[in-house]
Amino acid sequence: GKVLVSGANGYVAVWVVKKLLEEGYTVRGTVRSEKSIPYLKQLFDSYGDKVEFIVVPDITKPGAFDDALKDIDAIAHTASPFHFNFEHPRELIDPAVLGTTGILESALKHGQHVKRVIILSSCAAVMEADGYPEPVVLTEKDWNVRAAANCEKQGQDASHADAYFASKTLAEHAAWDFAAKHKGEVTFDVVALNPPYVHGPFLQDVSAPEKLNVSLLSVYNNAVKGGQTDAELASSPGSWVDVRDLAQAHVLAFQKEAAGGERIIVASGPFTWQQWVHAAHEIDSKLPSGTAGYDYANIKFPIKHDNTKSRQILGIDYIGITRCTRDILAQFKELGWY
Ligand code: NDP
Repeated sequence: GKVLVSGANGYVAVWVVKKLLEEGYTVRGTVRSEKSIPYLKQLFDSYGDKVEFIVVPDITKPGAFDDALKDIDAIAHTASPFHFNFEHPRELIDPAVLGTTGILESALKHGQHVKRVIILSSCAAVMEADGYPEPVVLTEKDWNVRAAANCEKQGQDASHADAYFASKTLAEHAAWDFAAKHKGEVTFDVVALNPPYVHGPFLQDVSAPEKLNVSLLSVYNNAVKGGQTDAELASSPGSWVDVRDLAQAHVLAFQKEAAGGERIIVASGPFTWQQWVHAAHEIDSKLPSGTAGYDYANIKFPIKHDNTKSRQILGIDYIGITRCTRDILAQFKELGWY
């Protein structure tokens, strides 16, 4: 089959492209700028004409993906802003929502062969950005409800976290609304994958550590650079997943019939930053050790994500912190980043 991967130059997406190619799929990746293409072409050079990259300059334009859909059997939509350089929440919300509805509209009109569309959502659409009064275990039934309301109320003054969480929540809602509205009309079903913080080695074009994507930059800052306070290291942003497991989850979500119509949390487990600092320090004692006397056996995680559904439907056997950290550090070391 031929798979369309949007935002193909992103941290998660390059791994999705790689796993798809390894499993024998043909891939058409979209990027928004011509300058992203040479690196990708070279990276996947050995796959010859099994892979191609095209430019979709503005995913918010109606019909932006129309031409990209020729001969496509399945779609992985990953293009969505994940950065904090913005003035107003709509700079994240608009591309997230309009990119999602736009690719679905294009598939409705021009995707006669499309059987399944994966929307890369997030645990940001599952959990609240500002936490809970009591520890919680969240499942696919849970939704972020506060972020979009806060952005609506506060506009430009909304927190960056709320803007990002709102963008992912509103985009996923829009996907499910579209699926419900056009049921019977479309040839495809929709799957939402909801990963938490994504860690693991990277394949995308990165010239320096400061240019890493948001989630891997956090690992670099905590485990390699250091300098965080004990309180920062003790904090838990929720759960994490290895980027290779998340990419494999995309492949499996195309292959497993039972994934159709499902929202699936793809998470390895909860974490605190101190655990990553510790894992890295155990591998290389030159790296920061963080908080002395930290009680690893009794960590109280404020938020956990139930990954039962991903294990049952997709059959993922998750990579753990030690292996993930080892592989990240090996790459950073090879690049001379520490
Ligand atoms: P990256 O920043 O590496 O990738 C983001 C991708 O989206 C890039 O291809 C980028 O293109 C594209 N993009 C960003 N803004 C726009 C826009 N306005 N219009 C068109 N394309 C745009 O981040 P990730 O790989 O981490 O993120 C990929 C997806 O995974 C996102 O949907 C994100 O929400 C989701 N996700 C990521 C998590 C993580 O921890 N990494 C956790 C949960 C979900 P360009 O390079 O040209 O900017």
